[in-house]
Amino acid sequence: MSRSLIVTIDGPAGTGKSSAAAVLAERLGFDMLDTGAMYRTVALLALEAGISPADGALIAAALDRSTLQVDFSVQPPIIRLDGRDVHLRIRDHDVTAIVSQVASHRDVRHRMVEAQRQVALTHAKLVTEGRDQGTIVFPNAVVRIWLDARPDVRAHRRADELRAQGIAVDDAAVLRDIANRDASDRGRAEGPLRQPSGAHVVDTSDLSFAQVVDRLETIVRESLAAAKVGCGGMSA
Ligand code: C5P
Repeated sequence: MSRSLIVTIDGPAGTGKSSAAAVLAERLGFDMLDTGAMYRTVALLALEAGISPADGALIAAALDRSTLQVDFSVQPPIIRLDGRDVHLRIRDHDVTAIVSQVASHRDVRHRMVEAQRQVALTHAKLVTEGRDQGTIVFPNAVVRIWLDARPDVRAHRRADELRAQGIAVDDAAVLRDIANRDASDRGRAEGPLRQPSGAHVVDTSDLSFAQVVDRLETIVRESLAAAKVGCGGMSA
């Protein structure tokens, strides 16, 4: 059983998980793990190596020859691929377009799940966000959260983010992208996107970012108090 104090945040694309997890972790004094960034880095590796996103075995072999490191010296932490900072590159459209397919492969997921559990061994207080954190990777996490929002709201937020980066998009196209990615993430056999049992559900559709983080912080502090664990303590 894990000796770490883990808060998992799962949910579909565009619910604001990464941003909320980063601020929540800072408020709690926890480290933060963005597992989507890990899968995006694997997708980038496939792109750069010219490997088809459909070929899980080849991608896994390429992964075994590479070093994917979460660099906690930067806040929020970034992923390094063979030492290189790829945190901006992995947000590009070509990576986003293939990441769900890359993440569907059993050989890839097993390596990522193992890497995430390794992170928890050395980061005893961790807010980790993704699609399978509360279901597969850390089912015994002391707090499991499910973030959701209406599809149109999620698409609008994602489109706003892209526009802020100077990328011209329309909400309808982003909605289609998000719907496709969610369908792929929910439909895969290995580590599908699912609401963890016993999860605290937060629908962010009509909440501001500050309200979301406040809600999450309240949930975590109340849950830890109920479990008689302080933010400085450890779970069994
Ligand atoms: O969260 P983000 O949008 O960066 O995630 C990118 C993709 O990585 C997701 O659409 C999903 O396919 C994959 N992913 C996953 N399991 C996780 C985190 C992300 O399959 N734990």
